[in-house]
Amino acid sequence: MCCTLAVTCAASAKTFEQAYQGISASKLHQHVKTISSDEFEGRLPTSAGEKKVLDCLTREFKTAGWQPGNNGSFLQPVELAEVTALAEMKLTIKGKGKSEQFNYVEDMVLGTSRFSELEQIKDSEIVFVGYGVNAPEYKWNDYEGIDVKGKTVVMLVNDPGFASEIPSLFTGSAMTYYGRWTYKYEEASRQGAAAAIIVHETAPASYGWSVVTNSWTGPQYSLYREDGNKGRVQIEGWLSLASTKAMFAQAGLDFTTYKNKAMQGPISKPLGLTASATVKSTVKKSSSYNFIATLPGSETPDEHVLLTGHWDHIGKNDDLPGDKIYNGAHDNATGIGGIIEIANALSSLDKAPKRSVTVIATTAEEQGLLGSKYYAQHPVYALNKTVGVLNLDSLNILGKTKDLVVNGLGKSEMENYLKVAANKQNRVLVKETNPGAGSYYRSDHFNFAKVGVPALYAGGGGKPVDAETAAYRKATLPKMRKCYHQACDEYNPEWDFSGAIQDLQVTFDVLYQVADSEDWPQWSKSSEFQRKN
Ligand SMILES: [Zn+2]
Repeated sequence: MCCTLAVTCAASAKTFEQAYQGISASKLHQHVKTISSDEFEGRLPTSAGEKKVLDCLTREFKTAGWQPGNNGSFLQPVELAEVTALAEMKLTIKGKGKSEQFNYVEDMVLGTSRFSELEQIKDSEIVFVGYGVNAPEYKWNDYEGIDVKGKTVVMLVNDPGFASEIPSLFTGSAMTYYGRWTYKYEEASRQGAAAAIIVHETAPASYGWSVVTNSWTGPQYSLYREDGNKGRVQIEGWLSLASTKAMFAQAGLDFTTYKNKAMQGPISKPLGLTASATVKSTVKKSSSYNFIATLPGSETPDEHVLLTGHWDHIGKNDDLPGDKIYNGAHDNATGIGGIIEIANALSSLDKAPKRSVTVIATTAEEQGLLGSKYYAQHPVYALNKTVGVLNLDSLNILGKTKDLVVNGLGKSEMENYLKVAANKQNRVLVKETNPGAGSYYRSDHFNFAKVGVPALYAGGGGKPVDAETAAYRKATLPKMRKCYHQACDEYNPEWDFSGAIQDLQVTFDVLYQVADSEDWPQWSKSSEFQRKN
């Protein structure tokens, strides 16, 4: 099914311009339709849907003439710890003469990153730790002078710069990594807390409560570790805003007052309450796979330019009323379809670029960027021979634009190539409209950035090319937002892929330019990332 088109794609010996023009919306429609079909069951890692999507990719890349990218295999095994918290979980807050119980999904979601069937905390002292940030370079430590060992820390999402809108605080309204939930649990673990709970608020999280509950119910994955991940806090979770306000009220405190204090400076405040919680889980060790394919370079094949995109999504939920499958058509069947198109364009060239181009379709991105994290820790190709990485996640379905959004604009010299490619389409590079959402830290390229490989994450724009596109965009955008990580993220034949094609052509162009050069693009001096070698 996936591959019926490949036969027509394998035509050879095209010029760059022919290959560029050959990237087509009709083929992208076919790929996205197939990959997001119910047959793929929402592409949860380790599910039957995984095998379908990996088979599909293998067939496509073989037909396109690419080589297996992992020492003779297209697959790189990624050992996952699968932990499914059971719905019977409880959270009880005691103190000030009261005992309040919070309900699963309605008020809170809890889980554990430990490979453990039972995690329990009993009468663990609750401490509000502001943003839960320990950032020496910003001279900010919410944990300063307090010992939270064995305690339950409660913290706000995002970072003080976002909340206060003070440009000099952190990076102002642009989220830093300190704003991400992944960081907050990591830091709470380093501090030795027993439990870490993040307060949900829609604006600073950049998504609603239902996104939290959808993402946190069902199996959760982490990279499997021999130590069972004992370095992590016992219990991690989220509390709804209303429940947080109720908890502060129980403590005789006003949440908004403390939220305001938290953005003015580092803070920790014991609430005079305790938390008891039980999280029972089923645990399973399982194998998932990154898909890796390479197109060997014609002159320096040991140097690689990477193209990444996650094949996985969040599976299905039989408890949902009506449609039970999270098809993930936009997120990220579009990206995977796009990668297939680019692969065909590259291998159709009359001469391969000097350097190798390597595609990594990652697993378990939705579970915390795990496939890319695993690759970055176990690279098949040496990181000091890895020139740069481009990532595709959720292509533009809103039509052609006059601009091109670069997430984290200004981070690296990869943008020089991007600028040239965008200018060819009469587009200008712009920064993302909502830097507070921290998009740069929310997809697979970020794990490459962390290990020093210049990483580019760009696509779409805010300025439609004409009135007709503007009207289509206006009608489509709210639906797209509403369906983020919901069952309604389904393939729609009406989607205008012309904007996605613009971006795929730009991506193809940048990949080609970087791969066909001898230059080593660097990080900007001001970036928080630098090459490691
Ligand atoms: Zn995605």
